[in-house]
Amino acid sequence: MFGSYGPFIPKPPGTGDGPSTTATASTGLTVTGYFRYRNWDSTSGPLTGVPGAKVQATCLGGMPNPTYVVTLTGLGGAFSVNCPAGYQYVSASVLLENSYVNALGEEAAFAGAFFVSFGGPPLQLQAANDYAARVFLDLAQYVPVVFTKFGYTKGQVAAWVSASNPAYGINWCSPAFFNCPGTDLIRSNFQRVFQQADDRVKWDGLFVTLHEYGHSYHWYAVENWAFDAGDCGSSGHGFEQATPLGCAFPEGIAFWISMVAVGSTVDHSPYGGDWGLELNLNNYPAGFPTNPPPPPDNDGVRVEAAVAAFLYDVIDNGTELDGPNNETGTAEPHLDNLAASPNGVLKRLRYCRINGSVTKLSGLDQFVYCLEGNTTAYQQASYLSPAWRLYSTISFEQSVPPINSAMVRAAWEYNLYGIP
Ligand SMILES: [Zn+2]
Repeated sequence: MFGSYGPFIPKPPGTGDGPSTTATASTGLTVTGYFRYRNWDSTSGPLTGVPGAKVQATCLGGMPNPTYVVTLTGLGGAFSVNCPAGYQYVSASVLLENSYVNALGEEAAFAGAFFVSFGGPPLQLQAANDYAARVFLDLAQYVPVVFTKFGYTKGQVAAWVSASNPAYGINWCSPAFFNCPGTDLIRSNFQRVFQQADDRVKWDGLFVTLHEYGHSYHWYAVENWAFDAGDCGSSGHGFEQATPLGCAFPEGIAFWISMVAVGSTVDHSPYGGDWGLELNLNNYPAGFPTNPPPPPDNDGVRVEAAVAAFLYDVIDNGTELDGPNNETGTAEPHLDNLAASPNGVLKRLRYCRINGSVTKLSGLDQFVYCLEGNTTAYQQASYLSPAWRLYSTISFEQSVPPINSAMVRAAWEYNLYGIP
């Protein structure tokens, strides 16, 4: 049942809530209403407006041909469909779709609302799938922020969100990966959309949704030859877990994109945003910043959270919220002055060439060389980790913005290996 409020079946004119005073031959027919979803950040699930949804309506009855009307929901989910004079009723779908995202249910099930109305009091419509509605709202809000902050754009992503099946997983795919049934598809489920029930990570849902979008952006907006999806293996990967280089790198980039879009507050307790990540998650000792520990497994080049923390330090500045409770802090001021542009960082990702020919970056070790603009990091890194690979040259296919390589060096030593 889609849209549990409001009339669904056309009633003949003159009965019940049939033609109202708004449906006269001189003024035309106006149907108004609200489109809402249940916001499960709160256990009471209050009905909350969905702005920016597409109302795709057809004016019918009383005229030889239908007239099609498309409008968007506004503040509080309010909408108004105005038909020219002579029509008797409106049949419409409310879609969780705009140019950035098309949110549907599991296996593309309908997630919005339908209605048929002869006018009358405002319709009270409810999304068929609260979780798809929330993914729509999150991506409608933050995809344009990603475009602005990172400087590249891409087409619409699809999101299929199961309202009942946790086995539906949480991932992103394209036809190149995972037998993807869409061209650019996020699959998610009800457990990964809202604030987690145990409040372990306050904004986990938004963080994860934007992480999956980060993969989409990496592939379609930045470099569709470089995403090394296979390296995470069938057993998956964890935020604090050491994985192969080719897993930790794209996963860290995806989290980085999420953090840049929202600010480090997107990753909250217990990780503590930028602050917590730089302290290598929730394992920090008293007395930071004098002696931060290395990340889990002591090899941050292979830990996706450490990759994200390093990249975040490359672009953040002194105004970032890097105190322990996501307030403005002074936890690591020596790393807060690099403030490289996110687009400049992505340009290095896109145009860096290793040994003149390697175009597919398969680890943060390679990207550190690309950021520093040379391969000398290996001398230091090889003492810290056996995972780093040695190359002879770094070049760029197109010019890239300059960056302070000494500060890049300090940021990776700190975030990946706990060197103050
Ligand atoms: Zn991922």
